[in-house]
Amino acid sequence: MNNQKPYDWLIVGAGFAGAVLAERLAEEAHRRVLVIDRRNHIGGNSHDAEDNHGVLLHSYGPHYFRTNRQEVFDYLSRFTQWRPVEYKILSWTDGRYWQFPINLNTFEQIIGRPSSSEEMTETLAKWRVPIDNPKNSEEIIVSQVGWKLYEKFFKNYTQKQWKRAPKDLDASVCGRIPIRTNRDDRYLSERIQAIPAEGYTRLFERLLNHPRITVRLGCDFKEIRDSVPYRRLAYTGMIDEYYDFCYGPLPYRSLRFERETLEQEFYQPAMQVNYPNDHDFTRIVEIKHATGQQLPVTTIVREYPADYGPGGEAYYPIPTTASHSLYEQYAQRAQSEANVSFIGRLATYRYYNMDEVVKSSLDEFQRLKTL
Ligand SMILES: Cc1cc2nc3c(=O)[nH]c(=O)nc-3n(C[C@H](O)[C@H](O)[C@H](O)COP(=O)(O)OP(=O)(O)OC[C@H]3O[C@@H](n4cnc5c(N)ncnc54)[C@H](O)[C@@H]3O)c2cc1C
Repeated sequence: MNNQKPYDWLIVGAGFAGAVLAERLAEEAHRRVLVIDRRNHIGGNSHDAEDNHGVLLHSYGPHYFRTNRQEVFDYLSRFTQWRPVEYKILSWTDGRYWQFPINLNTFEQIIGRPSSSEEMTETLAKWRVPIDNPKNSEEIIVSQVGWKLYEKFFKNYTQKQWKRAPKDLDASVCGRIPIRTNRDDRYLSERIQAIPAEGYTRLFERLLNHPRITVRLGCDFKEIRDSVPYRRLAYTGMIDEYYDFCYGPLPYRSLRFERETLEQEFYQPAMQVNYPNDHDFTRIVEIKHATGQQLPVTTIVREYPADYGPGGEAYYPIPTTASHSLYEQYAQRAQSEANVSFIGRLATYRYYNMDEVVKSSLDEFQRLKTL
């Protein structure tokens, strides 16, 4: 028999979904919360840490915080100060750098002379393929910029990343990349673009540092689900795993990161360089451009797309019609749970940005705070 006083909440996962919900439940609703994570650190995929050379790196790929949601920014600002950043990326193909995402500067590079927004708009109108309702990632791009730019920047990058042709992927995959006819060369369009001044992990430490929150790391839900007493559960892990893959595994893409430290201040001219048509990796990220660390050395990270299998890291849900319907089966089953909330990107099988996850946890808290 277990005589421990039950926790009000057990939260599985110490990423943004779990940590924000834990903080709200502990601070505003005065609940006793146990947060567990099977990894030996907090922060989920947003975790960062210094490497052996003192370079602060994002452990699971670069995390560019951005949002249009003032509410999310104000909430997180209680736990961190910010370093404003304009995330800049370039694309390397045909032996040179190109401005990316496509903007007026890219257009001038392509035609080899100065131009204007009007000329770019007129030219794209001639290049684009008229498609009324683009249904996939190929159609969404060719309907905006035509085949030539699609093949130069999108086709092979997407194929490498997803191991699927863009025409077999939802329009949302390539559709989220902006195409502009002005000189705005920022990677992202959101009004607020900044990263935590002391890093993500420090932000998470402050989120979880609460007398009513207990954190247990290196602890898998399976190991404790029957031994730790709790009243309600918030689960931010993979929903198919929660149900022992009863309808079959949901498909994911994974990544392999290759780090290299160099005895020089910077390696490349931008934080991120995409390699759509060369090499097996998709991009090289030098996050030092964004963190602003002053160091005589730099660490670059090459990102290789990889298949996902047991024991690996599930990074990106694969957005196809088949995977959506498989997820729906799990979602249906989840609806019948009285005391379990499924939140975050793995439990809802969605590609969520960090601000969207924070927003959904803040909303979920409003629903759960009286339970
Ligand atoms: C490569 C990559 C780059 C990204 N870049 C950006 C970006 O630039 N900007 C942006 O806004 N977003 C970015 N994201 C998305 C961002 O990572 C997510 O929005 C965020 O991490 C989601 O938080 P979460 O808490 O839902 O999930 P996670 O951060 O994945 O946290 C879930 C946690 O649950 C734990 N867990 C799972 N199952 C169990 C179990 N059975 N027992 C115990 N613990 C368990 C996991 O170990 C994990 O730590 C990126 C994602 C990836 C993969």
